[in-house]
Amino acid sequence: MARTALVTIACLAGLLSCLLLLNSLNSRSIRLTLRPCAKSDEDFIQLTEERLARFQRGLRFRTVSYDIGRQDTQQLAEMVSFIRSSFPRVHSAKSSVKLTVINQYSLLYKVQGSDSSLLPALLMSHLDVVPTDGQNWTKPHFDAVVEDGYIYARGTIDDKVGVFGILEAMEYLLAKDWKPKRTFYIAFGHDEEIHGFQGAARIAEHLRTVEKVQKLEFVSDEGMVVLDGFVSGLSAPAIIIGVSEKGYVNLRLSYNSTPGHSSMPPAESVIGVLARAVARLEASQQPSQLGNGPEKAILELLSTYLKLPFPANIAARVVLNNLWLFKPLVSYALSRNPPTNALIRTTTAVTMFNAGIKHNVLASSAQAVVNHRIHPSQTIQQVVDHDRQVIADPRIQIEILDGIEASPVADCEESSYAFQVVAGTAQQVFTDGRVLPGIFVAKTDTNHYLQFTRNVYRFTPNHIHMRDANRYHGVDERIGVTVFEKAINFYYHLLRNADLPREQVLGGAAAAACQGEL
Ligand SMILES: [Zn+2]
Repeated sequence: MARTALVTIACLAGLLSCLLLLNSLNSRSIRLTLRPCAKSDEDFIQLTEERLARFQRGLRFRTVSYDIGRQDTQQLAEMVSFIRSSFPRVHSAKSSVKLTVINQYSLLYKVQGSDSSLLPALLMSHLDVVPTDGQNWTKPHFDAVVEDGYIYARGTIDDKVGVFGILEAMEYLLAKDWKPKRTFYIAFGHDEEIHGFQGAARIAEHLRTVEKVQKLEFVSDEGMVVLDGFVSGLSAPAIIIGVSEKGYVNLRLSYNSTPGHSSMPPAESVIGVLARAVARLEASQQPSQLGNGPEKAILELLSTYLKLPFPANIAARVVLNNLWLFKPLVSYALSRNPPTNALIRTTTAVTMFNAGIKHNVLASSAQAVVNHRIHPSQTIQQVVDHDRQVIADPRIQIEILDGIEASPVADCEESSYAFQVVAGTAQQVFTDGRVLPGIFVAKTDTNHYLQFTRNVYRFTPNHIHMRDANRYHGVDERIGVTVFEKAINFYYHLLRNADLPREQVLGGAAAAACQGEL
C-alpha cells in the first residue's frame, strides 16, 4: 500500500516536472541583432594618448557638489571652458552640433536629425562629482594617475566617463561627416549629485518650452554596469541595464509623554514604546514584490544563462520559470541576502534614534527615522500604510519627511526597440557579457526627464567586479584604461544604432549578422 502511494506520488511529481520543464523551455529571451564590435574594426575608436590625456585633464577639475547651494562653481566654469576648447569639431561655429549653456554650467547639445518623424533620443551624463573629504585614498583624489591599467580619480566612473565618452564619440562622428536621421540631445547637468534642480530640471524645462519636445524615444543615463561575480553559476559578466529606479521615503516615528523622575518609572518608558515599534518594523518587513516588477524578467533571463551542473541547472530553471508556484520559496531564498532582498521588496532601514537628556530623567519624547527604498510596484502611501499596520500602536506618530516615488519600469521586452538599442549596444561592446534588466537602487536625476518617456535606461559602460562596487562615491575610484576605450565605443555605437531603422534593430535586415539568442 505504502509502496503504491509512493509510486503514485513519484509519477505525479514526474508529470509535474515535465509540465514545468516544458514551460521553462518557453522561457524569455533577448534577441540582440547587432554585430559585435572589435578592436580591429575599421571604425573602432582607439584610445590614443591624446584621448587619454583629455580625459585625465577633465578629471583634474574638482567639480565637487557638497550640498544644495554649495558647489565649486569656479572649477565647473573652468571645466566647461576646457571642454569647449578640447573638442573643436563639436564646438566649432560651423558644427552641426549646437550647444546651449543652461544655467551657467550645464550643457545641452543638439544634433538635428533629417527625419522629423523620428522621436529624439537623449543621452545624459553629469559634470559634478561627490566629495572625497574624510576618505582614506591610497592615490591622490584628483590627479588622474594611471597605474596597473587603471585611471584613479574621483569622477572616473561617476560620471566623467559619460561626459568624455560621449564627447569623444561625437568628435569622431563629426570627423566622418555625421548626419543622423534622428535628432539627438546630449545633456550634461552640473548638480546631479545634489538632485539636479539647477541642471537636469532646467534642461528638461528648456527641452519642453524652447525645443518643444513632447516625447523622447528613450533616455540613456548612468546607472548599472557590467559585473563580474554577480551570482554564482553565471560565469559570464552580467550586463545590467537599469530599467527602473527605486523610490525612497524618510519617515519620522515619534512618541511623546510627560517627563518624570527615573526613581518612580511607569510600566512603559517613552523609549521602550518607540523601541518596540521599531523592532516590529524590522521583524515584519515590507511584503515581497517578487513577480510584480522587473525582477521577474531578471530571474527568468538569469535562469537561461546559468551554467549549473545537471540536475541543478534544470531545477534552477524550473523554479525560476515557474514563480507562480515557487514564489514563497524563491522569496525566502532571496530575502536571506541583502542585495537580493533589496531587489524584491521595499527595504526598511532604521537610521536614527534619539531620546533622553540625562541619566536620571525619564525621556519625554523619542524619535526614530526610518529610510525605506521603495520597490517599483509600491507607492509611498502603501509603504506608510504597511508600517502603520505593523506598528499597531496609535500612540506612535508617523510623519513623512521627504520622498520620491519609484520610477516607472522601462520596456525590457524582446520587441522593445529602445531596450534593444541600449542593451544591444552594450552587448555589442562588452561582447562576452549577458544582458539582464535590473532595478537601480541608488538615485539619479533622470526623474526630471520622465515627463518625456518612461523608457529610461540606466547603464554606465563600466566593467567591474562585484567587490569593486563600493568604489562608487567611495575610496580609490577608478576605471580600467581599456574600459574607458570601450565606453567611448559604447557611446559611438549607441548614437549610430539609435539611428538604425526599427526593423533592423529588431531582426529583419540585420538577421544575417545576428549573433543569435543569448
Ligand atoms: Zn552620478
